[in-house]
Amino acid sequence: MTLLIKDCSMLDVVQGKVLDHMDIYIEGSKILRLGRNLNMVADEVWDGQDKFVVPGFINGHTHLGMSLLRNYADDMNLQTWLTEAIWPIEAKLNPKDIYWGSLLSMAEMIRSGATCFCDQYYAMDQVGDGALKIGMRGILTRGLIEDEKSQEKLEETRDLYKNYHGAGNGRLRVVPSPHAIYTCGTDYLKEVIAMAHDMDGVINIHMSETEKEVEDCVQDHGMTPIAYIDSLGMLDLHVIAAHCVHMTEEEMDLVKGKDFYPIYNPSSNLKLASGFTPVQKMKDKGITLGIGTDGDSSNNNQNILEEVHVGSIVNKAVNMDPKAMPAIDMVRMATIDGAKALGWADEIGSIEEGKKADLTIFNLKSASFTPRNNLISALCYSAQAEDVESVLIDGEVVMKDRVLTKIDYEGILSMVQDRMNQLLTR
Ligand SMILES: [Zn+2]
Repeated sequence: MTLLIKDCSMLDVVQGKVLDHMDIYIEGSKILRLGRNLNMVADEVWDGQDKFVVPGFINGHTHLGMSLLRNYADDMNLQTWLTEAIWPIEAKLNPKDIYWGSLLSMAEMIRSGATCFCDQYYAMDQVGDGALKIGMRGILTRGLIEDEKSQEKLEETRDLYKNYHGAGNGRLRVVPSPHAIYTCGTDYLKEVIAMAHDMDGVINIHMSETEKEVEDCVQDHGMTPIAYIDSLGMLDLHVIAAHCVHMTEEEMDLVKGKDFYPIYNPSSNLKLASGFTPVQKMKDKGITLGIGTDGDSSNNNQNILEEVHVGSIVNKAVNMDPKAMPAIDMVRMATIDGAKALGWADEIGSIEEGKKADLTIFNLKSASFTPRNNLISALCYSAQAEDVESVLIDGEVVMKDRVLTKIDYEGILSMVQDRMNQLLTR
C-alpha cells in the first residue's frame, strides 16, 4: 500500500521549521520520500492543502486502564487519594474492564493526535490486545508493587515480553516497570533491574513525584531517590522516569549524559499539587525530557496537546520568565524528545525519510490556526484536539476525517459506561 500526501505544510521538528508545499510519500509502514512536487505514483493520493502534518505525539507516561476511574475521586492529596479512593476500586477492576478502559484512552489519544504511549498498569495483555485492535504503538509495562504476589508479577512481565514484545509489526514493546521506590523494597528493585538487563536494557518507574517520597528515601536510605537508584545500578539502564518533580541539582548532574529521561506530567503535578517540575533547569543542564498525561484519575484526560500547552505556560509563570519553555521546545517534548525518552527515536518522533509513518494531520481551516501566523505557536498555544483530522500509525490510517477506522468509537463509550455501572455494584 502506498500513499502520497500532496502539497501540505509539514513540521520539521528537528530544525524547528514549518515547510510548505511538501509531498510525503509513504510505502507500507514507512516514509519513503519527502520533497516538493514528487513525481510518484501511489495507490492513494490525499490533498494536503490546508493541512498541517506533524509527527504523531508521544504520550510518555500514562495508566490507560484508569479511564474507568475518570472523575471518580478528585480534590484529595496523593497518599489519601491512592490508598483510600483509587487502590480499593482498582482492586475490583477485571481484565475486560481494563481492555475497554484502555481502548477508551487510546481512542482519546488518537483523537488528540497521539500515536504512541508508555503505559504502566496491570492486565497488560488486555492493553496489548487493545492496542493491536485500534492500531496504536506503545510500550507495555506491568506496574510492579511489592506484596505477596511479587514473584507472580515478575512472571507476568516475562510472559508479556514473550507474547507482545515486537507484536503488531514492532508496534508494541515490553519493558519491566517497578511502580516506585516507595512501593518496592531494595531486593525487589534489584530483581527488576536484573530482569531489565536480560530484556532490552530499559526500565520504567515513577521517580521523585512528591516531597514525601524524597524525605522518606533520605530517612530510609540516607540518600535522595536518584542517588539511591544509582546505588542499585539502575542508571546503567535506559530509565524512563515519570515525574521527577523534586529532583535536586546534584541529581541533575548525576544523570546528565546518562540514559535517564524524566517524563513531565504538568496537569497531574498541578492537580495533585505535587509541585513544579524544574523543566527549564533540566533542559539547561542538557537533560532530555518527554511529556505525558499520567492516568485519567489525576489529569483527567488523555489529551497530550493540553499537556504541551499547560506545560509551557506553567513554566513561564514559575520561572517568572515568558521566554521559558518556548513553543518549539514543548512540541519537541511531545515528539522527537519523547521518542528519545522512550528509546525509539530511530523509528519515530520526526518526519524523516526511512522513519515510520506515524503522522498527525491537522485541519488548518479552524479558528485555532487562523490566521496562519505561526503554526508552531499554534500547536503549543491554540490548537485543539478537534483540529486533528486524520492520524496514521505505522503507515496505517487509524483515523480519517475524525472517524476511527479500526473500531467503533461510540461502541467503546457505551461499553465503558456499562462496565463502570457494573463495577460500582461489585
Ligand atoms: Zn503515573
